[in-house]
Amino acid sequence: MGRKEIAAKNNLHNETYPKRKADEAKRNKAVYLVTRAIKAGRLVRGPCAVCGVAERTEGHHPDYDKPLEVVWLCNKHHAMEHKRIRAQRKYNLTTL
Ligand SMILES: [Zn+2]
Ligand SMILES: [Zn+2]
Repeated sequence: MGRKEIAAKNNLHNETYPKRKADEAKRNKAVYLVTRAIKAGRLVRGPCAVCGVAERTEGHHPDYDKPLEVVWLCNKHHAMEHKRIRAQRKYNLTTL
């Protein structure tokens, strides 16, 4: 095993917890920015991208680094999307 691989392995091990914390902070900030943009009229809540339901949709962030780029999803499809992402993340981790 080369030095690079060892470094990558250590990195993976050490960064898991702080990274999760950072993701959480990013998500909170993104949700806050969306709420503020809606109130200011800069962002308009849309219908669910999956089923088209127009009521009580939630902004989903494919990328928390782009807080104002959201996909509108109803409660059900939002939960489904997160389930899918979690499953995918788990898969990626076990195949690293
Ligand atoms: Zn839906
Ligand atoms: Zn989401």
